[in-house]
This record gives sequence, C-alpha cells and structure tokens, in this order.
Amino acid sequence: MSIQDELGFATLAIRAGHHRTPEGEHGEPIFTTSSYVFASAREAAARFAGDEPGNIYSRFTNPTVAIFEERLAAMEGGECCVATASGMSAILSLCLGLLKAGDHIVSSRSIFGSITLLFNNYLTRFGIETSYVPLMAPAAWEKAIGPATRLLFLETPSNPLTEMADIRALADLAHAHDCLLVVDNCFCTPALQAPLGLGADLVVHSATKYLDGQGRCVGGAVVGDRKRVGEEVFGVLRTAGPSMSPFNAWVFLKGLETLELRMLAHARNAQALADWLREQPGVARVFYPGLDTHPGHYLIGTQQRTGGGIVAFEVRGGREAAWRVIDATRLLSITANLGDTKTTITHPATTTHGRLTDEEREVAGIGEGLIRIAVGLEAIADIQADLARGLAGL
Ligand SMILES: *Cc1c(COP(=O)(O)O)cnc(C)c1O
Repeated sequence: MSIQDELGFATLAIRAGHHRTPEGEHGEPIFTTSSYVFASAREAAARFAGDEPGNIYSRFTNPTVAIFEERLAAMEGGECCVATASGMSAILSLCLGLLKAGDHIVSSRSIFGSITLLFNNYLTRFGIETSYVPLMAPAAWEKAIGPATRLLFLETPSNPLTEMADIRALADLAHAHDCLLVVDNCFCTPALQAPLGLGADLVVHSATKYLDGQGRCVGGAVVGDRKRVGEEVFGVLRTAGPSMSPFNAWVFLKGLETLELRMLAHARNAQALADWLREQPGVARVFYPGLDTHPGHYLIGTQQRTGGGIVAFEVRGGREAAWRVIDATRLLSITANLGDTKTTITHPATTTHGRLTDEEREVAGIGEGLIRIAVGLEAIADIQADLARGLAGL
C-alpha cells in the first residue's frame, strides 16, 4: 500500500480499497455470494491451508467487506481492519481475540452502556474482570492497573457529557505497564481524530453511527496492527462469525466517501447550537468540547480537529423541564441513535442510562435535567427554533 501513504485523507476515503474487477466497474460492487469456486482441488486445499490468498467463504472473506476494511484501515492509519456485524460485536471480538481467563481490563466509566453490560455480565463469566475509573483522572487509571491488566479501554469524547481523555498520555501509561490502549473512536471518527497516530494500539467503531451517517445499517470494526487484528481478532471472526454483510459494507463505503465533509458540517452546527444554548435562560450548563469552558478544550486542534457533533445541556427544573423541552420539538427526532443527518434528542437519565442505579447516574454526572442532542445537518436556525419552543416555557 505504499501509494496510499502519499494520498490525502479525502482521497483515501473515496478511493482506498477498491481493486477494480475485470468488468471495469467504476462504483464498488456488492458481492452477494456465500461461497467461492476453486479452479481445482489443489487450489481449494491451498486456500484453506492459507498457503494461497483468495476468497473461501463470506463469513470471513468477502470482496465488498474487504474494500470497507482496507479503506477504513487506511483512514485510521492502521495496518489492518476487521469489519463486524455491529459495534458491540467488534468489542466482543476484540476481547475474545486478545484476552483470556484471569486477565483484567481498566475501563473508563463513561462508556457506551452495553459495553459496561458486556464487561460486567458476560466477560466476568469467563474470568475476565473490569475496573472502572473516571475518564479524566490519569492518577486513577494508573492506580487501577495491576499485574493482570491487559487492556485500557476508553471513549473520547464520551457519551453524553463529552468528557475527553488525553489519548497520548494514556497510551504512554498503558505501554509503561505492558498494556494495550483501545479507543472507541465513534464520536470523532478518523475525520476528526486519529487515535493510532497518538499512540493507541487499537481502535473500535460502531459503523452504525457517523461512518454510515444516515441511520441505515448496523455495523462495526476493529482497526490495528496485522498480528492483533489481522490474525487474533480475525481468527474470532473466521471461527465465530459476527460478520458484516456485503450490502451493509457497501452502504458504509458510501458513508466513508462523505465522512469528512459531514463531520465538519456536524461540528459547525453543533458549535453554533452550543454557543446559542449557552445564552438561553432556562439552560444551566452546556457540555461541548468546542466551548472554552470545557475542561478538554485545550485538546481541540491537537488531539481532535473540532468539537464534534454531540452537544449535551442541563435545563433548570429536572426531569419535568427536560421532558417538556423534548416533547415540544416538532422537527428533532426523539430517539437514542446518533450520527445521522437528522438531529436526534435524548433524555439520557431515562433511556440510554436508565439501567443505571440512581447512585451510578449521579457518579456519572447524568442529571434528570440533562438532554443530549446529536446535531444533524438541517438548517441550524430550524434546530434552534425547535428547541426554543420548549425552552421558552421553562
Ligand atoms: C452505538 C455505540 C456502540 C455500539 O455499537 P452498535 O453498532 O450499536 O453495536 C459502541 N460505542 C459507542 C460509543 C456507541 O455510540
């Protein structure tokens, strides 16, 4: 891939990974085939033995999925990518591929809710324990690392409070203790943040969010080096089969082509919304990395290019007030998904974080008055007007 090293990000997003077939197609083809035909018994044997490259079976080799994998790897600056059926199966495959009974994970406590449940309810059954630490407290990370620790896991910015961690500092900490740093790059995507370039060992994605960008398909990916991802995580995919479908891979490829344009537009709208929210009397606090009051703001321009597309804010008056603002909207979609051209509005305390106890929610800083907006690409004046209706009644 030496030629890819010289191409710009926007070019990789549009062209990387597609090796034109003899049909000369311009668009990436969708290969809807479960298996592949061999020229001879000898060739079949060589493919199965891994002595010759080539397709075998679409659980683990499909040319359309391979284009997505090669393209995303190029965009993240990684050697290798494995595509999966969902973001959750990407994390499960990573854990199955790299961990064993007795191993320990240190995780940010501000991670996607289902990941906490995966770690606590399932990995524990197989002897893998997880300790949780505040994302923004480097000393707590160091203290939680023990002799059995293999992985440090985090998401930055986090959901829904947009807390940020210094990826380079945590990568150094991980490596000083012989651990791997895994970054969930869902909120920024490689268009805004390149964790591998900052020292992280592995990146995981929910492709469901911004990589698709239009709320159409569920998918995920793991990106990293050839040994860990190309062999160990790939081995899980080949054997256990949480695979991405070729159709979904094709949709994600179309998403990647416009990723940078969309992410910059999401961030422009989000910044304008955060600036405006800060001026509204009913709003007690706004959480957005692009605001100079945000504790992670100093990392804008170095670690992440912009503040991203997610804004959270706390209204005065608790749940009743928050629900009133949500129910007064006519344009925004009341849904928990994010990373869509359509703006979505969520009440975390009773939806995405509803399974936490009151105390866990308090520790996590998820108040009853908190509202999360995944800012879409509609006209910003229309998004503001839709929120102004509910805010005016507070
Ligand atoms: C949605 C999400 C996931 C899980 O991905 P799915 O595609 O829903 O399985 C993981 N991490 C983050 C940050 C997410 O937002």
